[in-house]
Amino acid sequence: MQLVCLDLEGVLVPEIWIEFAGRTGIPELRRTTRDEPDYDVLMKYRLALLKQHQLGLPDIQKVIAAMGPMAGAKDFLDALRRDFQVIILSDTFYEFAMPLMAQLGMPALFCHKLEADATGFLVNYQLRMPNQKMESVRRFKELNFKVIAAGDSYNDTAMLSEADAGILFHPPQNVIDEFPQFPVTMNYAELRAEINAASTRI
Ligand SMILES: [Mg+2]
Repeated sequence: MQLVCLDLEGVLVPEIWIEFAGRTGIPELRRTTRDEPDYDVLMKYRLALLKQHQLGLPDIQKVIAAMGPMAGAKDFLDALRRDFQVIILSDTFYEFAMPLMAQLGMPALFCHKLEADATGFLVNYQLRMPNQKMESVRRFKELNFKVIAAGDSYNDTAMLSEADAGILFHPPQNVIDEFPQFPVTMNYAELRAEINAASTRI
């Protein structure tokens, strides 16, 4: 029994914070863990910025819905789900991802959660557990699934290593250089071909 685990941002949908910063004209929201390595400091900074700009959850969700998935993502995912069970593993939050998941046909998503206050402003976040992408793959293997995983970035490499087959999708050059053990795919046709190849191998 085989399971495919996909990263979300950079694979099926745009990088949500980066795209959101562009669409709302709040460049400070482009700050990432590369600029601020302390994730808690970074998230509190982001939530404070949203409140400062008077953006509550419904406003945020409207902006995210308008982003839409990446071109071809829905067709790729629909076809993949006809042949495999697919779980999306992401470090985003349900409240952000849901408008995009609706446009992807509501696949299963494991991610994290935000807390809003009574007026709709985001006040905190809950990480379900640390390293949840890698931990999820480990648990699926304990359930006797063979796991094929694909992602685009550093935060996917532990998941790819844990999987029976790991595949990079449209990664930055430094990730390609640092993780030569993973095959590199640059579009959905290549990713699907690599998933099929892995499926016959594992
Ligand atoms: Mg990603």
